[in-house]
Amino acid sequence: MGLLLKITCSDCSYEKRLTIGPVFYQLPDGNQLSASVIRAWCRTCDGVVLAEEIPSEEGLSRMLQRLESGEPLPPLDERLRKVWPDEPTFRAEFIRRTEQQLRWRRSRSSPAHCLTCRGNEFEPFAGVPFGDRALQHPSCSGWLTCSPGARLSLAGFPLLSPEGAPIGTFPEAR
Ligand SMILES: [Zn+2]
Ligand SMILES: [Zn+2]
Repeated sequence: MGLLLKITCSDCSYEKRLTIGPVFYQLPDGNQLSASVIRAWCRTCDGVVLAEEIPSEEGLSRMLQRLESGEPLPPLDERLRKVWPDEPTFRAEFIRRTEQQLRWRRSRSSPAHCLTCRGNEFEPFAGVPFGDRALQHPSCSGWLTCSPGARLSLAGFPLLSPEGAPIGTFPEAR
């Protein structure tokens, strides 16, 4: 499932549509790892883009320690409970995924990329809910806001190499 986002500026006619959906890294062992993708202003693209967000190694290590120490997890919602029948199964899977993410993070050498131009010159939107004023438009100093639009079914998932390079054809945001 994907979500169409419409980005507009409070002070000028800038408008951009982005399709946001699940993105995965193709790992050398054949597994796929879910990538964290954020909205950002790219100076090279001169526009709003999707970009990678690379978690810190320390943050992932801390998360793993907490999971392994048996710290209680937030209660599973209905959707998760359908997939993970009980807490120990969910915890084991969470640990497996965090270990996988940590291995990838330790081998990752390049910084986060803009998914459009592969550059690194971008500024992320602040982590605030959709619709909030989140980022100043560099060319007019107005505020860029995102509003969620239609849900889309995407044909296939975009894949990235462990270093964030697109593999095959990467569905371009419309
Ligand atoms: Zn503007
Ligand atoms: Zn870019």
